[in-house]
Amino acid sequence: MSVKVFDTKEVQDLLKAASNIEGEGGNVRVKQILHRLLSDLFKAIDDLDMSADEVWAGVNYVNKLGSDGESALLAAGLGLEKYLDIRMDAEDEALGISGGTPRTIEGPLYVAGAPVRESLSKIDLDDDANAAPLVIKGVVSGGDGKPVAGAVVECWHANSHGFYSHFDPTCEHTPFNLRGAVKTAADGSYEFRTLMPNGYGCPPQGATQQLLNVLNRHGNRPAHVHFFISSDAHRKLTTQFNIEGDPLTWDDFAYATREGLVPPVSAKSGGQALGLKGDAYQEIVFDIRLTDLVQGRDNQVVQRQRAEAAA
Ligand code: FE
Repeated sequence: MSVKVFDTKEVQDLLKAASNIEGEGGNVRVKQILHRLLSDLFKAIDDLDMSADEVWAGVNYVNKLGSDGESALLAAGLGLEKYLDIRMDAEDEALGISGGTPRTIEGPLYVAGAPVRESLSKIDLDDDANAAPLVIKGVVSGGDGKPVAGAVVECWHANSHGFYSHFDPTCEHTPFNLRGAVKTAADGSYEFRTLMPNGYGCPPQGATQQLLNVLNRHGNRPAHVHFFISSDAHRKLTTQFNIEGDPLTWDDFAYATREGLVPPVSAKSGGQALGLKGDAYQEIVFDIRLTDLVQGRDNQVVQRQRAEAAA
């Protein structure tokens, strides 16, 4: 039998007590957010007549999610990270900011601490027999379209098996394999010499894939390369590009693909002279346009827990 108790004084008092929203001390913002989230949850239990078994299945799921270390992965898979981007895009539009390279999600696999090189870095430090050489290059410009010198371009991507250094359950990589950081030259240019990444999926036994299975959704991402671009005079850009031609380009479980972030891949020769492992290589030109600070500050810089390592 379905009952409705959410609007009773007993439940409303319980929500106030649990969040201590009317009490002294504590963090006022956390109290406000928790009171709202808990209220929404209680209301959903009432509205959907959730059984105790269903609620405990959810509680137990949160435990597994934490022990698997997949909260940030699930945030990407359920569109929460995309939603934050949609909100930032809307904020930009409201402020009249346009013309920058589109932002897209960071994902959970960045590692801080890559050594910063001058304009060029070769970042494939480990052999990967299945991966073809790849050059990623471009020019960083500002809101005025002029090249930005001294901007720091960081990139990170998976190997041909879809694994990232620092997070690879199958083997150890050399620290910062397939992760790099360069300062743009006077003409705004940057270049990474690396290997072609492949797409990847969520850990098959993990909490994220477990939920996706129940939803009849896949947990795969198309091949892509992540970027941070930082410059004192501009807002930090978090973005990615997809490798053109990947069949999952527009079917990314993390909703990161955007128009303007699928640059063409060109076949080139002369790789040996560049120190690549073969003469034939592929090249992706990814020019990046930053946006200006808003009243002298980066109004959208995101603080979150990130891995860090020594090179
Ligand atoms: Fe990724």
